[in-house]
Amino acid sequence: MKMDIFHDNPMLAGVRQMLGAFATQQIRPIAATHDREESMPWDLMRKAQGFGMTQTAVVDGRKALTGKDDDGDDGKDGSAKKPKSQARLGVAGSEELAYGCAGICLAIGGSGLAASPVARMGTEEQKQEFRRLLKGDDEKGHIRVAAMALSEPSTGSDISGLSTTARPDGDHYVINGHKQWITNGQSASVYVVWANTDPSAGRAGVRGFIVARGTPGLVPGRKETKLGIRASETAQVHFEDCRVHKDMMLGAGQSSEGLGDTKKMLDSTRPMVGAQAVGIARAAFEYLVERVQGGTMQGTPLAQHQRVAFELAEMEMEIQAARALVHKAAWMADHHMDNVRMASIAKAYGAKVAQDVTSRALTLLGEEALEPGHPVEKWYRDAKIYDIFEGTAQIQRRIIARSIFGVNPT
Ligand SMILES: Cc1cc2nc3c(=O)[nH]c(=O)nc-3n(C[C@H](O)[C@H](O)[C@H](O)COP(=O)(O)OP(=O)(O)OC[C@H]3O[C@@H](n4cnc5c(N)ncnc54)[C@H](O)[C@@H]3O)c2cc1C
Repeated sequence: MKMDIFHDNPMLAGVRQMLGAFATQQIRPIAATHDREESMPWDLMRKAQGFGMTQTAVVDGRKALTGKDDDGDDGKDGSAKKPKSQARLGVAGSEELAYGCAGICLAIGGSGLAASPVARMGTEEQKQEFRRLLKGDDEKGHIRVAAMALSEPSTGSDISGLSTTARPDGDHYVINGHKQWITNGQSASVYVVWANTDPSAGRAGVRGFIVARGTPGLVPGRKETKLGIRASETAQVHFEDCRVHKDMMLGAGQSSEGLGDTKKMLDSTRPMVGAQAVGIARAAFEYLVERVQGGTMQGTPLAQHQRVAFELAEMEMEIQAARALVHKAAWMADHHMDNVRMASIAKAYGAKVAQDVTSRALTLLGEEALEPGHPVEKWYRDAKIYDIFEGTAQIQRRIIARSIFGVNPT
């Protein structure tokens, strides 16, 4: 049984149950095809919108998924801050969808990466514009999606080294640079691109800009072929003298922390990424449990073989621990606590468990699981990416170490 921190919150429990059913009934049956074809599940993404998983859900808050406003508040009126449910909703949903297929989970939720800084730093006008650009269908008849373009060919982990520039020019900024490994990079209708407005100011000069598809100078580039999460599109994006009105700069006119805001944005998404990894591990674990329950070896039920039973016991310990960490990180965020350390722990440990469980599952099943298209082979490939994106395994350890010692390890 899944450890349930939602037993006292029927709304959260209900959403999780609904997404679990969606994963089993709608995602699983098409997962292998989209993995093999490296194609986005556009029809299912439209269906998911119907279930409330809209591309603007992060900007709209909890309202989109539950029809209700978030019950928390930020205590600005001097009252004690009430807890929210958004982060816990995010991790519960992420685990369920990734249990169905991590690539499809990212296809459904990938726009959230771009929506997150808009929700955090955008003005009401910018939020409206972001919503407007995601309305209706695109020229291919697909639902519209968004992309968050931060990483560059020479800058992944070290985001302070961005080389994309945004030069002020009257009421506009002129953006030049190349972005790589961008989720929805080819298909997006709206991009949030990070560029340096003042290279002499270093990190403090970095700002995000909302850029509509079709803006001259915004050129979607090559789509990448990937090891895993192949139902999610990853591509290059180029900016060649791309003029963007200054009103579309996030945090304009506010005391923005520049790159600091970008880092906070990643802190808020890491527990959800850890939860996706838990979903992959659970998928492999449940597959094995079913196989072991029905199987025999030398006349004895497989479950009575200590070697097999202990392997599964070990996996169950790891999965439960990873889920507990993810839930703690989300619980802290919902209770307005600083969760930087926990978010990194949850993400890093989730990724480690997903790789360990899927690797053990491959070993236990043997050669049959090496066949292309075998579900365990797919989960094994999907798991690896969780060590790389949204902060690599090493970067998470740097963050955790810095939170312990107060200094960056060199
Ligand atoms: C499927 C996928 C989707 C992605 N989607 C997006 C997206 O939508 N938007 C976006 O902007 N980016 C996206 N990325 C990019 C992703 O965030 C980067 O790949 C990631 O940050 C790592 O950067 P890098 O690949 O350049 O590796 P590098 O930063 O070059 O790191 C290479 C190796 O060095 C290690 N390393 C680097 N710095 C340190 C250090 N200080 N101490 C110790 N070790 C270190 C790393 O851990 C890694 O092992 C995506 C990536 C993938 C694979």
